[in-house]
Amino acid sequence: MKTMTCRELGGPCDVAHQGNSADEVIKAQDKHLKAVVAQGDARHEQALNEMKGRWKHPVSGMGWYRKAKRDFAALPDD
Ligand SMILES: [Zn+2]
Repeated sequence: MKTMTCRELGGPCDVAHQGNSADEVIKAQDKHLKAVVAQGDARHEQALNEMKGRWKHPVSGMGWYRKAKRDFAALPDD
Protein backbone atom coordinates (compact mmCIF):
# COMPACT_ATOMS: atom_id res chain seq x y z
CA MET A 1 0.00 0.00 0.00
CA LYS A 2 1.08 3.55 -0.69
CA THR A 3 -0.34 6.85 0.48
CA MET A 4 -1.03 10.01 -1.49
CA THR A 5 -2.68 13.07 -0.03
CA CYS A 6 -5.44 15.20 -1.45
CA ARG A 7 -2.82 17.95 -1.87
CA GLU A 8 -0.47 15.71 -3.85
CA LEU A 9 -3.37 14.98 -6.18
CA GLY A 10 -4.14 18.64 -6.79
CA GLY A 11 -6.53 19.26 -3.91
CA PRO A 12 -6.36 21.74 -1.03
CA CYS A 13 -6.18 19.51 2.09
CA ASP A 14 -4.03 16.79 3.63
CA VAL A 15 -6.49 13.89 3.71
CA ALA A 16 -4.49 10.74 2.91
CA HIS A 17 -5.65 8.12 0.42
CA GLN A 18 -4.19 4.63 0.48
CA GLY A 19 -4.07 2.22 -2.41
CA ASN A 20 -2.12 -0.44 -4.21
CA SER A 21 -2.17 1.45 -7.49
CA ALA A 22 -2.31 5.03 -8.72
CA ASP A 23 -5.79 4.30 -10.07
CA GLU A 24 -7.00 3.41 -6.58
CA VAL A 25 -5.79 6.63 -4.98
CA ILE A 26 -7.09 8.69 -7.93
CA LYS A 27 -10.53 7.09 -7.50
CA ALA A 28 -10.37 7.73 -3.75
CA GLN A 29 -9.51 11.36 -4.43
CA ASP A 30 -12.39 11.65 -6.89
CA LYS A 31 -14.78 10.31 -4.22
CA HIS A 32 -13.27 12.57 -1.55
CA LEU A 33 -13.71 15.66 -3.75
CA LYS A 34 -17.34 14.82 -4.51
CA ALA A 35 -18.09 14.05 -0.85
CA VAL A 36 -16.65 17.23 0.63
CA VAL A 37 -18.08 19.50 -2.08
CA ALA A 38 -21.50 17.86 -1.50
CA GLN A 39 -21.07 18.91 2.15
CA GLY A 40 -20.54 22.50 1.05
CA ASP A 41 -16.72 22.69 1.09
CA ALA A 42 -15.95 25.47 -1.41
CA ARG A 43 -12.18 24.96 -1.15
CA HIS A 44 -12.47 21.68 -3.04
CA GLU A 45 -14.72 22.98 -5.84
CA GLN A 46 -11.87 23.95 -8.12
CA ALA A 47 -10.11 20.61 -7.68
CA LEU A 48 -13.39 18.80 -8.35
CA ASN A 49 -13.99 20.81 -11.52
CA GLU A 50 -10.46 20.06 -12.68
CA MET A 51 -11.00 16.36 -12.00
CA LYS A 52 -14.29 16.39 -13.94
CA GLY A 53 -12.57 18.21 -16.80
CA ARG A 54 -9.96 15.44 -16.98
CA TRP A 55 -12.59 12.77 -17.51
CA LYS A 56 -14.26 14.95 -20.17
CA HIS A 57 -11.01 15.74 -21.97
CA PRO A 58 -8.98 12.56 -21.64
CA VAL A 59 -6.21 13.73 -23.95
CA SER A 60 -5.40 16.94 -22.08
CA GLY A 61 -6.07 15.20 -18.77
CA MET A 62 -3.52 12.52 -19.60
CA GLY A 63 -0.55 14.66 -18.56
CA TRP A 64 -1.91 15.01 -15.03
CA TYR A 65 -2.78 11.31 -14.92
CA ARG A 66 0.71 10.28 -16.04
CA LYS A 67 2.28 12.58 -13.45
CA ALA A 68 0.07 11.13 -10.69
CA LYS A 69 1.12 7.62 -11.76
CA ARG A 70 4.80 8.65 -11.79
CA ASP A 71 4.52 10.28 -8.36
CA PHE A 72 2.78 7.19 -7.03
CA ALA A 73 5.44 4.86 -8.47
CA ALA A 74 8.18 6.96 -6.83
CA LEU A 75 6.63 6.67 -3.35
CA PRO A 76 7.98 4.16 -0.85
CA ASP A 77 5.61 1.39 0.24
CA ASP A 78 3.91 1.95 3.59
ZN1 LIG B 1 -9.15 17.27 0.29
